[in-house]
Amino acid sequence: MVDTKLHDEPGRLAALKRAEILDTAPEEPFDRITGLVRTVLNVPLATVSLIDENRQWLKSCVGLDITSTPRDVAFCHYTIQGREPMYIPDAKLDPRFADNPLVTGAPYIGSYLGIPLSSPDGYNVGSLCAIDFKPRTFDAAQIQVLKSFAALVTDEMELRRIAAIDHLTGALTRRGFCLEAAKAISRFERHRRSSALLMFDIDHFKKVNDTHGHPAGDEVLRSVGKEMSRLLRTSDVLGRLGGEEFGILLADAEPEDAYRSAERFRIALEALTIKHKPPIKVTASFGIGMVEAGGGSPEEWMARTDQALYTAKRTGRNKSCFAPVDTGTEIGS
Ligand code: GH3
Ligand code: MG
Ligand code: MG
Repeated sequence: MVDTKLHDEPGRLAALKRAEILDTAPEEPFDRITGLVRTVLNVPLATVSLIDENRQWLKSCVGLDITSTPRDVAFCHYTIQGREPMYIPDAKLDPRFADNPLVTGAPYIGSYLGIPLSSPDGYNVGSLCAIDFKPRTFDAAQIQVLKSFAALVTDEMELRRIAAIDHLTGALTRRGFCLEAAKAISRFERHRRSSALLMFDIDHFKKVNDTHGHPAGDEVLRSVGKEMSRLLRTSDVLGRLGGEEFGILLADAEPEDAYRSAERFRIALEALTIKHKPPIKVTASFGIGMVEAGGGSPEEWMARTDQALYTAKRTGRNKSCFAPVDTGTEIGS
């Protein structure tokens, strides 16, 4: 039988996207596994590699200070084409890799063992790799050990995806936040209790990373999460919706309250100084969307609010804008 998922690149990329893991900060559980691989298999280099459209991105890498390579030179690009471990005892003797710049030049890969990492629905999103700088053999027991570690990596990816709390900021994950938004919608539909959704995105955050480095960017996200948690009431909910975008659900808020809160948060973020050398200042743009009757799913509510956020970005940033109110006019009415 043909393994169609091995040949479905759009499906594979969608599975990788669903994992919501690309370009995220290093995380202890993955680093612990690569650390163990290094010790147990006695290799200098171990990675959790994910294959994006055009690059290999490393969620964890012990033994070398890199975060990505072009896809076409990645060993892992070949590993994900099958279901079995890929074992290269001597890269120089393998026609696929003899001329590979990672073999002929730094880091001078000599041998490689990679296990495909499959998504829950069966797409190979990456691999767990054990790499040596010289040719070497891995016996059946060692291959089995790496397979077991790979199973731990995929379990961890799934746990991470279904987690409700974002480890960096302490805010709810997008998934957890959507569940809360669904509750706010049903509170409105059943009891007419209004709710507002604020969505904010840090302005020019890419520049923070580019200027001060990714760890400083992470520190900004941590500080922003902490500051917002400090300002919110216990009935309000904070979520990290992705990257440098956050959501806030304000219970029992009318439009005037929502706007006042958004401005209060915006000004507080503007006043925040993030401890770093040198200290970092940021601003954020806010979109505001009120819960609506027949307003549909949390995703629709968020999409509507995201448009308001986009307006705030387009018209100058560091400001709060409302989503257009749905007048309820329907086709045929
Ligand atoms: P805009 O004002 O239009 O929002 O510009 P921007 O630079 O903030 O937006 P853009 O979408 O161009 O860049 C967002 C950057 O955020 C790119 C991405 O690498 C970075 N990022 C996403 N998640 C994280 C993270 O967890 N940590 C760090 N340090 N950076 C992250
Ligand atoms: Mg931004
Ligand atoms: Mg953004």
